[in-house]
Amino acid sequence: MDRTLIVLVMPKSIQFIKSAVLAKDYPVHNMAEVAIAGRSNAGKSSFINTLSKNKIAKVSATPGKTRLLNFFNMEDSYVLTDMPGYGFAARSGDELREWQRMIETYLSVRENLRGLILVMDIRRSWTEDEEIMKRFSEREGFPLAVVLSKADKLSHSQKLQAIAKIKKATGLSAVFATSALKKDGGEEVERYIFENWIKE
Ligand code: GDP
Repeated sequence: MDRTLIVLVMPKSIQFIKSAVLAKDYPVHNMAEVAIAGRSNAGKSSFINTLSKNKIAKVSATPGKTRLLNFFNMEDSYVLTDMPGYGFAARSGDELREWQRMIETYLSVRENLRGLILVMDIRRSWTEDEEIMKRFSEREGFPLAVVLSKADKLSHSQKLQAIAKIKKATGLSAVFATSALKKDGGEEVERYIFENWIKE
């Protein structure tokens, strides 16, 4: 059985490794890394939990951890880096600069990083906030996949329209509709990541 299949059929277990801001504090490991970002309330924690039986992403919602990079070991097959929520309207100049420095440092120095997942509510439009993450990924040469969350809020045809709209706005082909509520779509995203970013 190839590794992708083994990973997908195994019981899920995700472990929190550590939090960090500075590069010197990032965990040392030799796995591939995937970063995940989204404005707050996008459904990022819920989505991460669809990848897991344990409610691990709650870690990132505890006070003090929301402005840090949180690293998770995904069953020893890759490391997921939960990046703090963005949304510039709610941030002051200093906060914004700190956040930007942390993300830019991470993206530019992390050698085992393979790609970036952007989580956004399927009912929202692509905005400047999402565009900034796209620019980061392009500048550093990482592929970007978009996870549209809360797909249960739309009918099937609205969902297809939303996917088409984001694909058109971004020029990206990796756009997935998911629902944490219905535990839907997480496997498809993981399969894509394994096939395109992680598998040698
Ligand atoms: P985060 O701030 O991006 O980590 O977002 P959360 O995962 O905490 O979700 C924000 C809100 O959206 C919460 O009230 C969730 O219950 C809700 N939510 C998240 N995912 C889904 C989903 O798939 N369907 C529905 N209906 N609500 C969701």
